[in-house]
Amino acid sequence: MSQQNVGALEVERIRDQFPILEREVNGQRVVYLDNAATTQTPDAVVDAMSDYYRNYNSNVHRGIHHLSQEASIAYEDAHDRVAEFINADGREEVVFTKNTTEAENLVAYSWGLNELGPGDRIVLTEMEHHASLVTWQQIGKRTGADVEYVRVTDEGRLDMDHARELITDDTAMVSAVHVSNTLGTVNPVSELVEIAHDHDALAFIDGAQAVPNRPVDVKAIDADFYAFSGHKMAGPTGIGVLYGKEHLLEEMEPYLYGGDMITKVTFEDATWNELPWKFEAGTPQIAEAVGLRAAVDWLEEIGMDRIRAHEEELARYAYEQLAAEGDVEIYGPEPGPDRGGLVSFNLEGVHAHDLASIMNDHAVAIRAGDHCTQPLHDKLGVAASARASFYVYNTEAEIDALVEAIDDARQLFS
Ligand code: PLP
Repeated sequence: MSQQNVGALEVERIRDQFPILEREVNGQRVVYLDNAATTQTPDAVVDAMSDYYRNYNSNVHRGIHHLSQEASIAYEDAHDRVAEFINADGREEVVFTKNTTEAENLVAYSWGLNELGPGDRIVLTEMEHHASLVTWQQIGKRTGADVEYVRVTDEGRLDMDHARELITDDTAMVSAVHVSNTLGTVNPVSELVEIAHDHDALAFIDGAQAVPNRPVDVKAIDADFYAFSGHKMAGPTGIGVLYGKEHLLEEMEPYLYGGDMITKVTFEDATWNELPWKFEAGTPQIAEAVGLRAAVDWLEEIGMDRIRAHEEELARYAYEQLAAEGDVEIYGPEPGPDRGGLVSFNLEGVHAHDLASIMNDHAVAIRAGDHCTQPLHDKLGVAASARASFYVYNTEAEIDALVEAIDDARQLFS
C-alpha cells in the first residue's frame, strides 16, 4: 500500500503498529472495514497488557503486598486517565463495566427500576442500538413507564421538533445515541440533553461510536450518564465505561453485589464502598483497564481532532464512490460534519450477507445484517444492510478495494 497522508495523519506509520493489518485472507492483504464492530489493537496496548501479566499481575485493592499495590495503582490510574480524556470531574464519575451494553443495563436496573413507574415516560430515538432500545423497553415493561421514540427523518437525522413534542414533564429519562452505528449520523446530543433538563428528565448518551473517533467532553454535553466500549477505540475487549454525574451515582443503588463494593458487612446488612468501587463488584478487569489506559494515551498522541478529520474524509470518499455506482442505496445523511466514519448501504438485487461473503473473497471485512438496529431497518424497509466503517489506519485505497468487490458482486449476480 502506498504512503498516504490523509488529513495530517501519517497512516502508514500508524499501520505499522498493527501487525494484524499485514495478515492475508484468501491470499490477499486483509482490508479491515468493520471498525464500528471492533477496532484493531495497536502494539502499545498489547504491550501494556502483556507488561501487566508479565510483571505485576495481581488482584487489586486487597493486597498489602507490592504486586497488588502496583496493580491497584495502575487500575485506579486508569480511571483517572479516562476521566481526564472525557473531561469528567474525577475517578468517582468513571465506572468500569464490561462494555456499553452493561453500562446501559447498570443505569436501567439501578436507577430505572427504582425510580420509574406508571405515568413516567422514557424517550429513545428510532436509531438506538439494541443495547439501549431493548434495555429501556424491558425496564418500561417492568415499571409501567411508557417508551416513545424520536422519529428519524428521511435524511437520517433526528426530528428535533418531534423530540420537543415527546419530551414533556412526564419524561424521566431520555436515552439517545451520540453517533448512529447504522446511519453514521452525529446527533445534536447537547440540544437533546438541554431539552431533557428543561423538563427535569435525566439524559443517557450512548457514545459507543463517538468516543473512539472525536473529542468528547461530557461536561460540555452535560449528559447525566455517558457510555462507551474499550474495544471500539483501539482498546481491549471486556471493558467499557459508564460516566455518571457524581451526585447521581451516589444516590443510586449498586447494580451488582459482592466483594470489593462494600465497606462494612455484618450477618444482617452491608454498607457500600465509595465511588466508583460501589459499582465494580468482584475482581475487575485489571489488565483491560491497563489496556484501555494505553489506548487513551495512544489516541491522544495522534489527536482526536485529527482522527475525526481522517474518518470524515474517508466517509466522504466512500459515500461519493458508492453514490457514483447508481445501483447502491446509501443510508444516513450526506457527508458533512454530522456524519461519522461509517457508511451503510445495499447493492440492488444482492442480499447484504451475499455481498459481505463476496467481499470476504476479496479479503475485505465488512459487516452485514441489522447492526443491532432491527426497528430502524424495519423503518428503512430492508431486513439488512452492508456496513463499511473506518478507523485511523484505513486508507482511500482500501475503499477502492471495497468498490472493486462490489463490482465483482454485481457481475456475479447479474
Ligand atoms: N451502542 C452503539 C451505538 C454501538 O454501536 C454498539 C456496538 O456496536 C453498542 C452500543 C454496544 O456495544 P458493546 O457491544 O460493546 O456493548
